Amino acid sequence: MVNSTARVIRVAQHGDVSALQPTTIPRPTPNPTQVLVKVAYAGVNYIDIYERSGSYPTPAPLIPGREGSGEIVEVGAEVRGFKVGDKVAFLGQNTYSDYVAVDAIHVAKLTDNISLETGAAFVLQGLTAVGLVRKGYAVQKGDWIVVHAAAGGVGLLLTQLGHLLGAHVIGTVSTEEKATLARANGAEHVVLINNGYEALEKKVRELTNGQGVHAVFDSVGQATFESSLNIVRRLGTLVLFGSASGAIPPFDVVRLSGKNVKLTWATLYNFITTREDFEELYEDSVEYLEKGQLKLAIHKVYDVEDVKQAHLDLEGRKTTGKLLLKIQ
Ligand code: NDP
Repeated sequence: MVNSTARVIRVAQHGDVSALQPTTIPRPTPNPTQVLVKVAYAGVNYIDIYERSGSYPTPAPLIPGREGSGEIVEVGAEVRGFKVGDKVAFLGQNTYSDYVAVDAIHVAKLTDNISLETGAAFVLQGLTAVGLVRKGYAVQKGDWIVVHAAAGGVGLLLTQLGHLLGAHVIGTVSTEEKATLARANGAEHVVLINNGYEALEKKVRELTNGQGVHAVFDSVGQATFESSLNIVRRLGTLVLFGSASGAIPPFDVVRLSGKNVKLTWATLYNFITTREDFEELYEDSVEYLEKGQLKLAIHKVYDVEDVKQAHLDLEGRKTTGKLLLKIQ
């Protein structure tokens, strides 16, 4: 049965976790190129925190959530390849909701061996990680790479992929427990960054004979940016893709000339602007999962009623791997 209303978590005004409030709205209606999904799980991602707090320019009121899984309950007139009853994972918006209308180009049918839980846990972070090691910087065997927040959701996947591709992965983390996890997921070296990033810079100099690393995957932003520029080698690449510690202040691009550094800010959405791009990236990413080459670490599945705790844990750096909300 499809309800006429949807229970959602809504942010009326940007703020701390108290801004996350349950409410009921009319059920969304899919447009001709969308499907309507009854949501089972919504993934929790750092972008949900940027949007809730207002550090990203998404206007409030808003419903957070960029991914999920569930069952299709309605198919837009122009959509091909999906039917009511299909179990799917998807990228979308406003996914902290019972029902969500999502663009069919970003929907993937789940095969029998991918559960709804796995689908929601993998689709955004898995595709991001695979996209980053291919198109952010194409990681090569023998490369030295730094992965910041190496025990986080995207970080653990990047660490595994870097190792799989034959790179020497240097991970940064804030606790011993996270260090153990990063090592178990393929980090050859792990640096604890509690006292700033000097220890990382020293370690990189030692390990690379002073040359620096081929690439830095940096999702921390303000706190790491200067250090990331310091540790990248001549002709190396700095891949920015998030700013968990805050926005990077403006800087003079001429500084890149010191080492001919390539600088990119990569987003998942620019890897998958067409259905073909999405399908290719999804299928390749899921293949890693199905072959057991990539392993998901689900930190916790929170009841949707506990969404405030989920946000507190993620922004409080208390989590490793993936956080999910059980919607229904
Ligand atoms: P994580 O699980 O990685 O959580 C963030 C981690 O960042 C923390 O656990 C913490 O790890 C580290 N961190 C370092 N400094 C800080 C700080 N000052 N405040 C908070 N955290 C800090 O989150 P996600 O996997 O959801 O996302 C990781 C990053 O990737 C985010 O920046 C996100 O925006 C970005 N992202 C970008 C995408 C894109 O398309 N560009 C897509 C998906 C994610 P530790 O304690 O070990 O330092």
